Amino acid sequence: MATASLRIDLDAILSNWRAMDALTGTTTETGAVVKADSYGLGAARIARMLARAGCRKFFVACTEEGAAVRQALGEGPEIFIFSGHMAGDTEMIGDLGLTPMLNSLDQVTRHFESLPGAPFGIQLDTGMNRLGFEPAEWQAVAPIVLGSHPKLIMSHLACSDEPAHEMNRYQLDTFRKMTNGMNVPRSLSATGGILLGRDYHFDVTRPGIALYGGMPFEAAQRVVTLSLPVIQVRDVQAGETVGYSNTWTAEEDARIATVSGGYADGLMRTLSSKATLWHGNVPCPLVGRISMDLITVDISHLGEVPKSLDILGPHQTVDDLADVAGTIGYEILTSLGNRYTRHYVGGSV
Ligand SMILES: *Cc1c(COP(=O)(O)O)cnc(C)c1O
Repeated sequence: MATASLRIDLDAILSNWRAMDALTGTTTETGAVVKADSYGLGAARIARMLARAGCRKFFVACTEEGAAVRQALGEGPEIFIFSGHMAGDTEMIGDLGLTPMLNSLDQVTRHFESLPGAPFGIQLDTGMNRLGFEPAEWQAVAPIVLGSHPKLIMSHLACSDEPAHEMNRYQLDTFRKMTNGMNVPRSLSATGGILLGRDYHFDVTRPGIALYGGMPFEAAQRVVTLSLPVIQVRDVQAGETVGYSNTWTAEEDARIATVSGGYADGLMRTLSSKATLWHGNVPCPLVGRISMDLITVDISHLGEVPKSLDILGPHQTVDDLADVAGTIGYEILTSLGNRYTRHYVGGSV
């Protein structure tokens, strides 16, 4: 089979979720962010497992994602939509009992008029300038909205992966000023904010990347292994070139493995000539350009022809590969393509 295998360790995700939960006090509830199909790893499986483990609040980016998670979970857990209540989403929000985080007066009006009495939350902008009400707007709208009992008031930190950044304190203070005394559950922190300490936890947390094994949660258990099957092996002579545009030339006789996987699978072209694949504990350098579906690897030093080579695994985490590509772990994960067969291990709760 020429499809690469993406192995997802559900036990590791569960243990990461519990580790996030353990960092907060007993009055703080730990939710789970499962947007973008759980960062590419499969929201249905992961949300179901976390719900069995006691997670009652799930967060997604848009209503369609919320519908998929509702289908996986059935009734019960709350599903919050960061993008709020957009035109055209009313029926889905109402029928599936989703909770939009309302971001503007337009959204409040739409929600209150089309689904009176339906649950909602409020998103505030405390300085990131991306989504939510700004302080002045909120002051005007709060008296109207609070009477309808929002399920949650949240904001999002711009610099929480840098603990010493002054923006964290500034946003914390702003969030407090905008919400103190309102008697509505509050949420400020994603993974980075949870790691900043108790001041940032409030009533509900929203970890995403920590669950999937990425930075800034250094103690995360590794979640993914990506093994690319070897399709063909050939010997090349000194002076021969490999791949598009002849970017790699063999300095001496070499043995090259061609493996299944390429930029169409999220292994971005910027990894060309830079990344390392692994045969067990032995590193094998990627040589030449990454093509759409294929990658070439120097295996001259191996005494055998491997069945597959790992590009993500114990020796190379999502963040290690991100460093090589000049991006972040989030982008590596969410780029992982649809052609991989996703194998889940563990996950019985
Ligand atoms: C993506 C996102 C999260 C989760 O962030 P992580 O850094 O992955 O933990 C939480 N809240 C909001 C608003 C988000 O957009």
